[in-house]
Amino acid sequence: MVIYRATKYDSIEPLPDLDLYTFYFKPNEFNTKFPADRKVVIDGLTGKSLTHSQVRDLSGRMAAGWVDNIGLKQGDIVASFAPNHYDHIVVYLSLLAAKCTITPGNPMYTEAEFLHQISNSGAKALVTVPELLPVLLKVCAKVGIPKSRIFMYGENDYQEFKSVYSIMSSTRDIEYPVQGLNSKEDVAFICYSSGTTGLAKGVMLTHQNLIAQALITMETDKHAHNEHDKSLCFLPLYHIYGLTVLCFNAFYKLLPVVIIPRFDLKTYLELVQKYRITLLSIVPPVAVQLSKDPLVLKYDLSSVRIIQCGAAPLGKEHTDNLLARIPGYLIQSYGMTETTSAVVQSGYDGTAVGSVGIVCPSVECKIVDEQENELGDDQEGEILIRGPSIMKGYYNNPEANAKTFAEGGWLKTGDVLRFDSKKQEFFVMDRLKELIKVKGFQVAPAELESLLLGMPEVNDCCVIGVYHTDEATEYPRAYVVPAPSLKADENLKKAITDYVAKNVTGYKRLRGGVRFLDVIPKSPSGKILRRRIRELAKEQDTPV
Ligand code: AMP
Repeated sequence: MVIYRATKYDSIEPLPDLDLYTFYFKPNEFNTKFPADRKVVIDGLTGKSLTHSQVRDLSGRMAAGWVDNIGLKQGDIVASFAPNHYDHIVVYLSLLAAKCTITPGNPMYTEAEFLHQISNSGAKALVTVPELLPVLLKVCAKVGIPKSRIFMYGENDYQEFKSVYSIMSSTRDIEYPVQGLNSKEDVAFICYSSGTTGLAKGVMLTHQNLIAQALITMETDKHAHNEHDKSLCFLPLYHIYGLTVLCFNAFYKLLPVVIIPRFDLKTYLELVQKYRITLLSIVPPVAVQLSKDPLVLKYDLSSVRIIQCGAAPLGKEHTDNLLARIPGYLIQSYGMTETTSAVVQSGYDGTAVGSVGIVCPSVECKIVDEQENELGDDQEGEILIRGPSIMKGYYNNPEANAKTFAEGGWLKTGDVLRFDSKKQEFFVMDRLKELIKVKGFQVAPAELESLLLGMPEVNDCCVIGVYHTDEATEYPRAYVVPAPSLKADENLKKAITDYVAKNVTGYKRLRGGVRFLDVIPKSPSGKILRRRIRELAKEQDTPV
């Protein structure tokens, strides 16, 4: 049996038996080295900042407020929907110290998308921003979250809704170290991911999963990062990439992070220059912009030493251009929400172009064929992962759990990788699962398909991702069998495209187009043969 393990790193085990809050604030090599007034979070737009000791003080008193003033109890689930906020870390840590579970989600969701996450997770309270209230109030009314349990990010109350700062205890700090949490079993975050199939499901990440991920990056980056490093964060702090890399892992080592709510090239470049940012954490479409846009040449980006790119594939065609403009280490990583982010990552000692690198410390991987027979070097197959950062399971979903975990606790990823014996690195080759990734965001075909099937004009359909090389991203494309009386023409395409655009958030739109078919190919059991449709898409998109 070929099991791939880390060869160049020390093990991170045994893991400390601690809850996350206690783990982050107990003395470590970083918080004892840097002064407590080191600025760790900086709001890129206003310049406001928080020091490490302020985060500790605010989160401790906010935690006491959740318990004493609001009455949150251990195990209560609290939803968070907001664009990146510089006090996200305070709110997250306060809820963890109050022994609650956080379910963070995309603030760009539509009403139906919010409803799915809030009702599926059973959230009892919500932290958000005024702009989202019109939609979220409707959702909260449907699921029975009272207005008194809706709170605002930032320092200001809004109408009858209290800010997270107003609920804070003025005197009491939360009990430290936190008592009564089981690090291996208790869930810190429920993030939403569609996994290998179907609609978005709640991924239960335990305190131990996040501690493992923090220690993995401490080990992989130990010789590469230094005390002058600074990072810039536009990646959403509800997605596992931003949540781990730029929120918790950065905080653990007191790495200053400049936070902005969304990516805008000009603002991004200005801030890299202004703060002399050394670490960029990006996704492939941003890598493309940085490698192509003439605006980039107007800024001094010489401070940048390391570019980390993940969440989706970055092709060879873009890496050379990027590094020609911004020389440094390009670290690609592969991982998923279910693995608490990276489990395979480039080393800093030279990585083959297009590779995602080597196995992270304490992680085990194997490559299998469709019958789950184990394969070896240079063979393409599904990668299965095991290790301390693998999720506890999908929330309230035994059926999905049974399908996702193979014997021996291996997580089935639905991704096809190959271990190259000459280069001694992994390469991502394909994706077996239904998931589409648009600029790093997840789109579940099942969601768009059920929407389309609700249209009287659509008899049957299948949604797949088509890759747009210039933008380094996939876009969803619908293959549609129209209702019998209808003409399969441009008007119908437009009606379908507009309908989807009206009902889903921006990145889920059918930017890959609509195509008509007489029949959707299916297996005898009625399962859509997506691979056939993907092959068809390749033929249709290949110029003749
Ligand atoms: P998410 O849970 O949103 O992080 O999505 C995880 C999925 O993104 C993985 O299962 C892969 O399909 C894809 N993915 C993540 N990193 C990479 C990468 N470096 N190259 C190719 N695909 C990736």
